[in-house]
Amino acid sequence: MLSRCILSVKTPVGPPIEIIRHTFSAPLPKPAQRVSLVAGLHGDELEGLYICHRLIETLKKLEEQDALKGEVHIYPAVNPQALETGTRLWPFFSVDINRTFGQTHTPSLPGETSKILLEDLKSNSDLVVDIHSSNLHLMELPQIRIIKNFEKKLVPLAKFCNVDLIWVHPHAEIFESTLGYNLNQAKIPTLVIETGICLRINKNYCEQIVLGILNLLRQTGTIDSSEPEEEIREPKMVQPEYVAMVQAGNAGLFIKQAEVGQMVTEGEKIGDLIDPVGGQVLEEIRSPRSGLLFTLREHPLTSKGAPVARIATEEPA
Ligand SMILES: [Zn+2]
Repeated sequence: MLSRCILSVKTPVGPPIEIIRHTFSAPLPKPAQRVSLVAGLHGDELEGLYICHRLIETLKKLEEQDALKGEVHIYPAVNPQALETGTRLWPFFSVDINRTFGQTHTPSLPGETSKILLEDLKSNSDLVVDIHSSNLHLMELPQIRIIKNFEKKLVPLAKFCNVDLIWVHPHAEIFESTLGYNLNQAKIPTLVIETGICLRINKNYCEQIVLGILNLLRQTGTIDSSEPEEEIREPKMVQPEYVAMVQAGNAGLFIKQAEVGQMVTEGEKIGDLIDPVGGQVLEEIRSPRSGLLFTLREHPLTSKGAPVARIATEEPA
């Protein structure tokens, strides 16, 4: 493993901000395939860091066994200041770095950082995986989200990743400043994984993704290994009209009675919305459709209209 600092910036009093890239490379003159893994764009999403840690452990062993046929780059913490404070945004600037990519005018430090990261990824990758977790409110089943325009190229690659779900959604302007969109526009296929919840580490989901990424490396000829030996799951393909969203009709505390990953039937109860002060149940939250419960509210504090659940349905929702 070769480690390189791709960015180092002085801070007023503390140690510098540094972005590290670890490289595992085949001892061949021209590597077969170059795959990059990125985590920590949002500093409160810690599962990607753990996934990178597990992959580094495995790749070190594979390197010793001469099992590398291509090149793997791991960027485990691309927003170090936000990671240190456990915040989604880059502190001080309060900027979402994943909304600064592809902009030509970059006067701020987060903007300059995203530019350097994007260029580094472009010059070192044939394929990129960008790992995210959900926000503080919702628990997500391991999934890959794909913008409709990139569906054809990305779905076959996403199927290698051992996720439960591939969600194809329409393009929106808001995606144009993300890392994933800019890399895909630059013809570097990029998969955006969304799993679990921020500020926590769901070990089972992380291990599931680790297996998936190892399988992706194997299927693309980047590693020559019998791992993973476990069977890779067939993801459920979901088109936009097959997602049923449940929103709270009242403000209250959400007490869940289901778990993500569960198959629910139409009308099945998934939780109660209670008035904790008045001692009454305001609303029984029921699934509007039968299908796979893939998003569920984890944060009990719920405002009126807040998302509570998403279900991947068998028929248009
Ligand atoms: Zn994120």
